[in-house]
Amino acid sequence: MYARKRLGVAILMGIALATYQLFPASAAGKPLRGSLYWEKRSKGLAVYSVETNQKHIAITFDDGPHPTYTRDILSALDAYHAKATFFVVGEYAVQFPQVLREMANKGHELGNHTFTHPQLTAMSPIEIQKCDQAILKATGKQASLLRPPGGRITDQTLWVARQTKHRLILWTWDVDTKDWTEPGIQKIVNVVVHHADPGDIVLFHDGGGNRQQTVEALRIILARLTKEGYQFVTVSQLLREQVKPPFSVPCPQPPITPEPNPPKE
Ligand SMILES: [Zn+2]
Repeated sequence: MYARKRLGVAILMGIALATYQLFPASAAGKPLRGSLYWEKRSKGLAVYSVETNQKHIAITFDDGPHPTYTRDILSALDAYHAKATFFVVGEYAVQFPQVLREMANKGHELGNHTFTHPQLTAMSPIEIQKCDQAILKATGKQASLLRPPGGRITDQTLWVARQTKHRLILWTWDVDTKDWTEPGIQKIVNVVVHHADPGDIVLFHDGGGNRQQTVEALRIILARLTKEGYQFVTVSQLLREQVKPPFSVPCPQPPITPEPNPPKE
């Protein structure tokens, strides 16, 4: 399954390259978009999955902390010695600092998901810095990872990530559980257990609504994948294991666009 996904990515990159050569961005006036474009455009700032020799997966949660769901998730993770990464919203971190301390004490990683979860156009260094401060105050730890709300990336997002010294962490396209739509426990389980590969970054949500399905699905997923020999590590751990990709495809050079001016607060 893993080789098939790599092949799929290679084919997509090939198509993207061919498309680029047929329709150069500067000539067509319509630059490439999508994860391939941004991964290359961001020069290593944006990560969607990690090439690793270990049977490791990074489970991530957005939009928390939540006093009930996050704690249920922490218990489920404990039962399988699983480490996860929580991209927290700063204003909830201020409200529930004890939940952040519980995450950190159990060895989980805390990432930045902005202070108020703003729309993309409102994303500014202040939003990131305020969330960093909330994490630092609660746990004494400096967050090095950033996930933009909605996972959307623009030049503004890249600029803000660079300014605030964070690495942008997205998620692997075929293990997006869409649990926030409450699709049913079985659907969430199937997305992950049918598509998980080593180095994947799985997306869940522990806040922003009713997350009972997420909690129930997570217990089943952890049991199934543990049986298959997977271990669950933080995103930073996965990044430390990164190896050179097994194939190399020449990358289209995106048009150079100037950095935007610092947004006004
Ligand atoms: Zn979010």
